[in-house]
Amino acid sequence: MIKLSHQAIETAAIATARAITEHFGIKAVARRMVAAFPVPRGGVAAAYAVRKHCPSLYLVDTADEADCFIDDLVDSGRTRDAYAEQFEGIPFFALFDKQKQVFNDEVGAPDPGWLVFPWEGNSQSSASDIPIRLLQFIGEDPGRGGLAETPGRFLRAWSDWTIGYGQDPKDVLKVFEDGAERCDQLVLVKDIPVYSHCEHHLAPFFGVAHVGYIPNGKIVGLSKISRLVDIFAKRLQVQERLTNQIADTLTEYLDPLGVGVVIECRHMCMESRGIQRQGSTTITSAMRGALLDEPSARAEFLAIMK
Ligand code: ZN
Repeated sequence: MIKLSHQAIETAAIATARAITEHFGIKAVARRMVAAFPVPRGGVAAAYAVRKHCPSLYLVDTADEADCFIDDLVDSGRTRDAYAEQFEGIPFFALFDKQKQVFNDEVGAPDPGWLVFPWEGNSQSSASDIPIRLLQFIGEDPGRGGLAETPGRFLRAWSDWTIGYGQDPKDVLKVFEDGAERCDQLVLVKDIPVYSHCEHHLAPFFGVAHVGYIPNGKIVGLSKISRLVDIFAKRLQVQERLTNQIADTLTEYLDPLGVGVVIECRHMCMESRGIQRQGSTTITSAMRGALLDEPSARAEFLAIMK
């Protein structure tokens, strides 16, 4: 997270003014005024900063009148693309463009992460903007008493729900070779709790995972298997990928004779919105090695699992 200084904004505004002059040509800029529409909301402050260095620029109130658009940041490029689609051929300028990775020294290249502009306040209030805007979007009043602490809680909860991004499975999967000599039978951990969020709706999905493997000289602490499930679940997921990631990671670190992972989950995005009947469970499985190839091993896994 980088908090941009006013000096950084000034430097970027000068560069943007230069780009606008170059685009329209010095003569054209001198001859006529260039109408700029500031993209709400960050583009407003950006456009005022750029205008100081580009006297022919004036700001218009609707996108239809614009010769160009000005924004503070091109992040994913989604906003710019939406404007390009609706207003073909009208150029889009931004103080900072993550897609181009052109940043001045104050920002640092190549990936600056989360940028906080001076008009966004401190970094915490900038992030708090997300839940506040969401509350406004659903028609709530963020100033209502009961919601006073909600933005902070929301951010803390999402940090917990996605803590897996900062965790590495290899730190968890400490493998024991000691005591594994005579272990060649299926090891199965059943009913491991799964709490995750789908990447399509950011909605919760939850249920249980059953994880089994047939050791090949290496075993792992049983609690570590639960931890492994949690590391991958505490990220944005689709259930199929979650299942495969657990199976593939165990295969990679344990090199077992076989791995089987079955996950049963209920998805809030489907159940609560009437797409699928309530209480229905989505089951996914990932089988590797002997649990994929050998019918007897596979049958044993499925039988014990029930
Ligand atoms: Zn979903």
